[in-house]
Amino acid sequence: MTLEEISEWLKSVGEPSFRAKQIFVWLHKGVSDFSEMTNLSKSLRQLLNENFVIYNVKIKKRLESSIDNTVKYLYELHDGEFVESVLMKYKHGYSVCISTQVGCRMGCKFCASGLWGLKRNLTASEMLSQVKMAEIDNNVRVSNVVMMGMGEPLDNYDNSIRFLRLISHQDGMNIGLRHISLSTSGLVSGIYKLLEENLPITLSISLHASNNELRSAIMPVNNKWSIEQLLNSCRDYYAKTHRRISFEYALIKGINDSDECAKQLAAKLDGMQAHLNLIPVNPVQEHGSMKTPDRQAVKRFCDKMNSLGVNTTVRRTLGQDINASCGQLRRTEQDKCKN
Ligand code: SAH
Ligand code: SF4
Repeated sequence: MTLEEISEWLKSVGEPSFRAKQIFVWLHKGVSDFSEMTNLSKSLRQLLNENFVIYNVKIKKRLESSIDNTVKYLYELHDGEFVESVLMKYKHGYSVCISTQVGCRMGCKFCASGLWGLKRNLTASEMLSQVKMAEIDNNVRVSNVVMMGMGEPLDNYDNSIRFLRLISHQDGMNIGLRHISLSTSGLVSGIYKLLEENLPITLSISLHASNNELRSAIMPVNNKWSIEQLLNSCRDYYAKTHRRISFEYALIKGINDSDECAKQLAAKLDGMQAHLNLIPVNPVQEHGSMKTPDRQAVKRFCDKMNSLGVNTTVRRTLGQDINASCGQLRRTEQDKCKN
């Protein structure tokens, strides 16, 4: 709940509204029970207990990389579903990658998160709890959040926006919107809605292909909105927010990594102030034909893009020894449950 919603509720039960901030602060410290809210009267704590529940995520599995200290979590939700998060350490601080849905219905052909479709949306508090739990478990303060875990944030629009407003609240975790990225597979209607919110987050677009035929083959969302429609929405987004957009491009061997693809891509991104992130695709067992190109091919593609005037970098790979790319841990856990 927002501070205003808590305040409204307090008013409705005849409690003073200044209590709202106390409750809000406790919730965003990650308490798991109302009895921990020691500066509230016993009767108010009881009333809260009768009317509300706190659904924190629980750590089901924790894997720490021995290469770079990246920590991957499999979290269990109150209804027994699982989602994944990753805590990464960078020079500028800690960053958490969170999930926004259980599963995903977008059906991208290289991704493990969507293998069984969408189970359900996450609530804003389940998104907040993923960040808080990583902070508590590692005794660190998280400074950056990326909405790049399982799920499509713009397909869970209202909860994602609520999450953004709550996590950046000064009485909550107070993580600045400029330190938050939202990644989308390209739901154009959602991008236009987001533009109207005027939030200074970084928008990240999963492009992954340089022409419509190829993109539709690996990302069904492209059948609804073409690359041109998507890039037009990005241009409008930039014109309104002046926030530079970053594009993700997962390099898949023999599918989208040719010189011809690089040329097509550069032409599409021409004049867009874009930053392009190349990600060698992570192999997923069920998507056997999606293979990772070798290092030279990745470097060649990157050099080609830069020489064609697109600011391009290869995404640093973290947590390679712990399967840190999304959807894979949940898949393993679900297989165990089935057997
Ligand atoms: N649904 C959103 C956000 C979650 S996916 C989106 O698609 O953008 C986060 C990123 O991981 C996306 O760029 C997605 O394309 C990428 N991704 C998914 N599966 C991958 C894989 N096997 N290897 C590399 N990147 C992958
Ligand atoms: Fe969903 Fe993103 Fe995976 Fe596509 S890449 S299936 S949109 S989580």
